[in-house]
Amino acid sequence: MPERVRAVRTEIAAAAARAGRNVADITLLAVSKAQPASAVRAAAAEGLCDFGESYLNEALEKLNALEALGLTWHFIGRLQANKTRPIAERFQWVHGIDRLHIAQRLSAQRPVHAPPLNVCIQVNLAGEDRKAGVPQAELAGLAAAVGSLPRLRLRGLMCIPPVETEPSHQRAWFARLHELQAALNAQGAGLDTLSMGMSGDFESAILEGSTLVRIGTALFGSRGPAQ
Ligand SMILES: *Cc1c(COP(=O)(O)O)cnc(C)c1O
Repeated sequence: MPERVRAVRTEIAAAAARAGRNVADITLLAVSKAQPASAVRAAAAEGLCDFGESYLNEALEKLNALEALGLTWHFIGRLQANKTRPIAERFQWVHGIDRLHIAQRLSAQRPVHAPPLNVCIQVNLAGEDRKAGVPQAELAGLAAAVGSLPRLRLRGLMCIPPVETEPSHQRAWFARLHELQAALNAQGAGLDTLSMGMSGDFESAILEGSTLVRIGTALFGSRGPAQ
């Protein structure tokens, strides 16, 4: 674990340097789905404080077990309308907003004493049927509606682009998400987050302006055949 964390941090720093960016502007989100609480504890001991989970029941077990650590939890999985309440109550971030209905539920269910829930809208850049995310043509409307919900804070955009091995192809998708964010900001959206880049493509994402990389296997190793 310490070696993997060090290696990922070194790569992030190298990519930031190549892009002429400040490494402090890039958050390392450790994707701990399908990893035990002990792995999260080990990562926290290395100074990581942001963790991403995709499966609610598994996540809640870890949140309960590790409550004393004061970690920041991000829900990065698919959102189901009947499971929004525990997400609104227990997480600080949600990255996969792609429908107004879900955002409205999260806003209504966010406890009044908690700060607003940070959210990113997921964009389906390539129009892939089996992937979540709002189509590009519907992004502006959804962003305006989500941005006006009282208990949410719209922070930015998220994408899971098609798998590309060629860095220039990876970068083209990430550049597209950056352009979409810039267009919304030109209209006053005030977005500060680009949630893009995973174990296989985070260097390309950082070169195109990512402010938050979501990294699982490069930090924790394989999740096994089920994933
Ligand atoms: C699993 C997952 C990741 C991490 O993927 P790795 O390839 O293991 O780094 C990032 N983002 C989302 C949305 C995921 O579901």
